Order: sequence, then structure tokens, then C-alpha cells
Amino acid sequence: MKDMTFALTDDQRALKAAVSELCKKYQPAYWRDLDAKREYPEAFVTELTKAGYLAVLIPQEYGGAGLGIMEAALILEEINRSGGNAGACHAQMYIMGTVLRHGSEAQKKQYLPKIATGDLRLQAFGVTEPNAGSDTTKLQTTAVRTGDRYVVNGQKMFISRVLQSDLMLLLARTTPVDQLKRKTDGLSVFLVDIRGLKGFEVRPLRMMMNHSTNALFFDNVEIPADSLVGQEGKGFSYILDGMNAERILVASDSLGDGRWFIEKAVAYSGQRVIFGKPIGANQGVQFPIAKAHMALEAADLMRTKAAKLFDAGLPCGPEANMAKYLASEAALAAADACIDCHGGYGFAEEYDIERKFRESRLYRAAPINNNLVMAYVGEHVLGMPRSY
Ligand SMILES: Cc1cc2nc3c(=O)[nH]c(=O)nc-3n(C[C@H](O)[C@H](O)[C@H](O)COP(=O)(O)OP(=O)(O)OC[C@H]3O[C@@H](n4cnc5c(N)ncnc54)[C@H](O)[C@@H]3O)c2cc1C
Repeated sequence: MKDMTFALTDDQRALKAAVSELCKKYQPAYWRDLDAKREYPEAFVTELTKAGYLAVLIPQEYGGAGLGIMEAALILEEINRSGGNAGACHAQMYIMGTVLRHGSEAQKKQYLPKIATGDLRLQAFGVTEPNAGSDTTKLQTTAVRTGDRYVVNGQKMFISRVLQSDLMLLLARTTPVDQLKRKTDGLSVFLVDIRGLKGFEVRPLRMMMNHSTNALFFDNVEIPADSLVGQEGKGFSYILDGMNAERILVASDSLGDGRWFIEKAVAYSGQRVIFGKPIGANQGVQFPIAKAHMALEAADLMRTKAAKLFDAGLPCGPEANMAKYLASEAALAAADACIDCHGGYGFAEEYDIERKFRESRLYRAAPINNNLVMAYVGEHVLGMPRSY
């Protein structure tokens, strides 16, 4: 392996600084206002796209920057560290990976350059269903081949950024369960142009945080047969292929959140004077902040290890999953410490802490619940008996 040191390169430090500069234009009031109205950060995402940051993982031959997952991770971390919410656009970085790895050359040439420029947005990823949840192999949405089309019927739940996307990556059943030898077969991935699609209903859901999430309904929706990505029936394995990237990037969202909480807590506890001294001098205030900082630093090491393995083309399933778990839990410990040290102000909207708390809370549960990360580590890393 070329490089397993943990120091950032000069280029990576410059990248972080440039993202930080861009984020300074979008002050907390911008995010707070959108949060209250549950509106999409259109101006921020457009500027980020135009600057090329959401296309860092797209190879140069298709118009992207051709950088590694480590660079993508640093961009997302910096957005959340600055007080923003990278969850609004992080999927534009990694959803295209399924097309890049498994799509035809024609699909890559048609879509990737436009995704890189932002002319096409691919931020929607339709997997979860009301009756399947975490058990993806039980998906019920069907795509039935009829001539040069597939006809899609079914429902999806909690699918984010559909109204802000032109394209959606959809996982649907192409072979009924009772005709399968292996339960992981029979699902297929489609790259669907969702603009003006007939029979397709999007019902926005008001969630705890501003995440542009929806319930989707497919009623005899016809999509061209060439929307299929890769081989029919192999969709589950294609989705699994993309999960390490997703885990590393979501861990980076959490690291950014955690660092924002720590910076905020340190600053406030140093200047808030109660009983004649700064509250940060009290170990009851100081230690939870120090403890959360240590957890974040450890999670950062695991995220960086996972990213380096990923960029070296080496297996990184355990590290990517552990990074997602450790970073999301560390961010929540930092959130708690930050709320506690702010007393009543921790709950006041204008301090942004309660908003960031709601945003960071998501990553314990999505895109995969930390319970299932522990099950993965117990069963696949440690070889313990299966629970499901
Ligand atoms: C804001 C938001 C945005 C989302 N965006 C998307 C999106 O864009 N695309 C998409 O496809 N999905 C999305 N999701 C869905 C998310 O990935 C799912 O919520 C998640 O996969 C779990 O499915 P479920 O909610 O049905 O929970 P369930 O699968 O019903 O699980 C409920 C609880 O039971 C636990 N549980 C279940 N089985 C076990 C077990 N064997 N051992 C231990 N615990 C278990 C789970 O960990 C969880 O705590 C989003 C969710 C949210 C909240």
C-alpha cells in the first residue's frame, strides 16, 4: 500500500480551505431560515456544483475531477463543520458510482458529463419500501419487461431529494421471490429520468430535519428498457458495491457535525461566566466536551483508514461501517455536550444547536441503522451467529 499515514496532503488542506471559504457565504441564518420553511438549499448546492465539488468522484474523462473518496469526504466534513448541511447534496457525489461501475459505456457518456456540470441532477436513490425497510431483499416494487419498456408498480418510502433531481436510481424486483434460488437475486437497478414521468407520484414528508424526503407511488410507470443498469437481477450486489463509499461519506458528514458542536461548546464555555468563573472550568462541563472530542478524533482515524483503503482499491467493508458507526455516535456525544453546556440557549433556534442536533441525529438511523452496523461487525467481522 502506498500511503497509510494520516496527515492531509497540501492539496487536501487547500481543498478544505477553499470549501470553507465558499461555506462562509452561507451563514447559519441561511440554513436556519431554510430549515424553518423546509426548503432546499438551492443557491448553496448550485454554487457547490458549479465549483465542481460534487463531481470530484467522477473520472476526468467524463468531466469530473477524478479525485478520491478522501477528497470527497473532506468536502462534506467541511460543509457540516461550517454549520451547513451536506445531507442536501452528498448523494450527488456517490449515487453515480453505480452507473460508473456497472453502467454501459453509452450510459456513462450520456449521463456522467452532465451530472458533472450539474446540467443533470442525480441525487435520488429509491431503495427503502414501507414493507421491506432494512430488509432490502424483500422489496415488492416490480419492474416487468414488456417489449422495449419496463412497467413499474409499487411504493417507496423516505426517498430524499426526488423533487430536486432529474434522475433517480431505482431498485426494483424483476423476478418474483418464489422463482429465485438466492434471495439476493431478482432485483435490478434502473437509472430513471423522472422528469414528467406518467403515473409517478411524489408525496413530500415533513421530517424532523430539513431533508427533502418523500413517499413515492408508481402506478404502471413506463420506463425505457435501456434504463436498466448492468445485468437484470444483479441489482442487489450493485447496490452493495456502492455502500462503502456511502458509509465513508456519511461518516464525514457526522465528523463535520461533531467538530461544529465541539467548536461551539469550547467557545461558549470559555466565555459564559456563572458563579464568578467560566463554566468551562468546571469538569462537569469540560469533561463531556473533551470526551466527545476524543471520540471524534478516533472516528476520524477510522474514516481516514477506510478512505485510504478505498482509494487504494483494497477491501474496506469493516472500516467503512465502523467509521459510520463511530462518527455518528461521536457526533451525538458532541451534540449532547454542546446542548448541555449552553443551558437553555442550547434549545433556542437562533443558536443553531438544536437544528444541528436534529440533522446529526439522522445518521444513527440512516442510510443504515447503527444496529445493523453492529450486526455486520458481529456476524461478518467477528464470525458470530446471524440474527437475520
Ligand atoms: C430522513 C431520511 C431520509 C432517507 N432517505 C432515503 C433515501 O433517499 N433512499 C432510501 O432508499 N432510503 C432512505 N431512507 C430510509 C432509511 O435508509 C431507512 O429508514 C432505513 O433503511 C431503515 O428502514 P425502516 O425505516 O423501514 O426501519 P426498519 O427496517 O423497520 O427498522 C426499524 C428498527 O428496527 C431495527 N432492526 C430491524 N431489524 C433488526 C435486526 N435484525 N437487528 C437489530 N435491529 C433491527 C432497525 O435497526 C431500526 O432501529 C431515509 C430515512 C430517513 C429517516
